[in-house]
Amino acid sequence: MKRKRVVVLGATGSIGQSARKVARDIPDRMEIVGLSAHSNAEGLREAQAEFPKAKAVLSSGPDGEERLIELAQMPEADIVLIAIVGTGGLRPALAAIEAGKDIAVASKEILVLAGEAVMTAAARKGVNVLPVDSEHNAIFQCLDGRAADSVRRLILTCSGGPFRQTPASELDSVTPERALKHPTWSMGRKISIDSATLFNKGLEMIEARWLFGVPMDKVDVIVHPQSIVHSMVEFNDSSVLAQLSHSDMCFPIQYAVTWPERVANSLRPLDFAQLAKLDFEAPRREVFPALDLAHRAGSEGGTLPAVLNAANEVAVDAFLNRRLAFPAIWQTVEQAMNEVPFVAHPSLDELLEADRLARAAAAAAIG
Ligand code: NAD
Ligand code: MG
Repeated sequence: MKRKRVVVLGATGSIGQSARKVARDIPDRMEIVGLSAHSNAEGLREAQAEFPKAKAVLSSGPDGEERLIELAQMPEADIVLIAIVGTGGLRPALAAIEAGKDIAVASKEILVLAGEAVMTAAARKGVNVLPVDSEHNAIFQCLDGRAADSVRRLILTCSGGPFRQTPASELDSVTPERALKHPTWSMGRKISIDSATLFNKGLEMIEARWLFGVPMDKVDVIVHPQSIVHSMVEFNDSSVLAQLSHSDMCFPIQYAVTWPERVANSLRPLDFAQLAKLDFEAPRREVFPALDLAHRAGSEGGTLPAVLNAANEVAVDAFLNRRLAFPAIWQTVEQAMNEVPFVAHPSLDELLEADRLARAAAAAAIG
């Protein structure tokens, strides 16, 4: 099997660094041919020192998106890994698809904003959309090419975040420092806050809906504090398949790149005698309204997921800057979902307009 040539958009972030680690671990199977960072020039230089032959670009500045698109379409690449936080990777992802590349998607936000457009474009071009988010990568492994009609439920596991057991009354006084301390994963700031509000799992419910072509009612969430079972598929014969590993994003990144093959690596295997136990519990939906908001957005569809995603980005930023209380993240999102005009079958332009309106609505609500 040949070596996959990969462009990493967002190479300085948490996912980007894990992708670089995978490339160093399995150099015969993965070669990084392109790298981008937004404004971290020092980090980009470091990345380039690891992969001197790779083309490297900074994406901040007025023609930044053009540079990302050029990188995403470079003739030398087989796969483009989208590891940009937020929705800045949407146009580069669509450009990669147009150029006939497979895309490996870590940026769940682009699938929440425009999942239908991305999946339709990929199907038209006959390219693969490879899930990197650990839950979706787990489901991808469990499905192993089986059609969605044999699926009864996709069961996304959820660590529960740092406030899994915190009384609701204490959430008002949560600081960014506490919210950033994830119990099982070390990640970028935005996704860490999303994991604390459970909007991360909400976004992932909508992400799953598009990646696997199932209705929202078939997407379930179960809290699993150890983050060893990365997700499960229940089939129509009531059998369940699960994927397990330590919580390290190198696992799903590697599988997305080497798929459909499995390749030996230096990652630590599980020792079941050491694990002792795996717990599962129902999420506290009344304490964490993100799950119901995401279910509503995914079920009603149209522009609603785009609005949820954009308002959440603005609210998370305000919370990190101490301009918003933790529970107000949910309220801000819900308010934007109720305020921004709904379009049932939006074009890409209408989705981007809903994204813009939602950001404005959230900013106004925050004040
Ligand atoms: P991060 O903040 O650590 O890194 C973000 C990367 O994107 C950096 O390289 C940065 O330079 C770049 N970037 C930031 N803003 C940009 C913009 N406007 N345009 C272009 N590039 C920009 O984030 P992360 O934790 O690596 O997460 C990246 C994506 O992967 C997110 O969508 C996140 O939800 C998803 N994801 C992350 C993890 C994880 O373990 N970190 C797991 C699953 C999914
Ligand atoms: Mg995830």
